[in-house]
Amino acid sequence: MGRIVQKFGGSSVQDAESIKRVARRIARTRGEGHDVIIVISAMGDTTDELMDLALKVSPSPKSRELDMLLTTGERQSAALLAMALSDLGIDAVSYTGSQAGIITTPTHGNARIIDITPGRVVKSLDEGSVVIVAGFQGVAQTSKDVTTLGRGASDTTAVALAAALGADYCEIYSDVDGVYTADPRIVKSARHISQIGYEDMMEMAASGAKILHLRCVEYARREGVPVHVRSSFTDKPGTWVRSQDEITKDGAMEEAIITGVAHDRTEAKITIVNVPDRVGEAARIFRAIAEADINIDMIVQNISRLSDAATDISFTLPMDSGAKAIAALDAIKDEVGYEEVLYDDQIGKVSVVGVGMRSHPGVSATFFDALARADVNLQMISTSEIRISVIVGADDVDDAVRAAHSAFGLDAADEATVYAGTGR
Ligand code: ADP
Ligand code: ASP
Ligand code: MG
Repeated sequence: MGRIVQKFGGSSVQDAESIKRVARRIARTRGEGHDVIIVISAMGDTTDELMDLALKVSPSPKSRELDMLLTTGERQSAALLAMALSDLGIDAVSYTGSQAGIITTPTHGNARIIDITPGRVVKSLDEGSVVIVAGFQGVAQTSKDVTTLGRGASDTTAVALAAALGADYCEIYSDVDGVYTADPRIVKSARHISQIGYEDMMEMAASGAKILHLRCVEYARREGVPVHVRSSFTDKPGTWVRSQDEITKDGAMEEAIITGVAHDRTEAKITIVNVPDRVGEAARIFRAIAEADINIDMIVQNISRLSDAATDISFTLPMDSGAKAIAALDAIKDEVGYEEVLYDDQIGKVSVVGVGMRSHPGVSATFFDALARADVNLQMISTSEIRISVIVGADDVDDAVRAAHSAFGLDAADEATVYAGTGR
């Protein structure tokens, strides 16, 4: 018999009835004789609601206290699921991330797992219990404080536990039938992907496809954990995420040029106007941003205008780092001597992704042509070997995704189903 980790997302446990439905599903797996470890997310939009509540109480809450608050969401659903399983006659025990031995760095809100000491989990499994672990949280090795691993990181908890416990594979249950060529909430004709390589999936996740948390895919690739992404509302086979070698060996997937189109609405754009065109200014600016612990994404330095020997520098960053970035730039205004800082969070990023584009010229031309025909204006462009991303106005994101999806011939004949969730 096998050992399986199953993770259920918030939309799969949005109310009492759906918690009981998930419990019945787990009971079936247990009935097949497997060791079962469950990772659970907070019910429905609980994490967003707790965050809204915190911001109503205090405009800039301490990140330690935010983590104390947000981790309660997963603790609720873990305990409730254990109760539902008990009623089905199944021994089940719930653990917080800390109790399950998820040891992290001390960075609140975005901690990384550095070790897993799953002694209590293993003991409970040996005693025949189903073990339920609260997702997206751990305990800092140094401060011993409770931490969270970043939004959407229950996926990462699941894969990390699968690796630590030597599970056969990790199942991620969500509100869609797996990974599609675009978000099925935007593109009704998105195509279901039956198998995808870690590398392609990492690029999709890094470009905003929130069906899987980026670090979960990185972890799965590093540890060689096969991941099955599927719906908790059906028994349909989902998407297997595994190494490209295994997929090619299967002959199951012919090499497509584009794997999918991803979008991201969580970034903002900052433009620093009239930066003196001198050696070292960009270094000074991005040092200040880095020291404020802000991760930046795209950077564009516009050509300098010979008349005034000044240039504009634009970059994108997570929207929730906006205020911090503006403060950091204000602090160096006199030193650098720029004119002003412009902030715009009404933007979105749209990316076409695919390891197949490495060997195919003309992908940018097709992409930009499709955007032009959809009357979408491009604000920034960045490219890598396996991804092309553009920044567009927030209102243009949906049109841009649909246009790119069609232009690369990804549209399927049938409609993708979204079973639940608010898309928040
Ligand atoms: P969960 O609560 O189960 O963790 P998430 O909301 O985090 O679910 O992720 C599932 C959602 O991801 C889907 O409902 C869908 O709207 C979105 N999504 C974005 N890109 C994709 C994609 N390429 N394939 C499938 N779903 C996607
Ligand atoms: N509940 C957390 C969130 O909404 C973690 C997760 O669902 O993966 O971000
Ligand atoms: Mg998720």
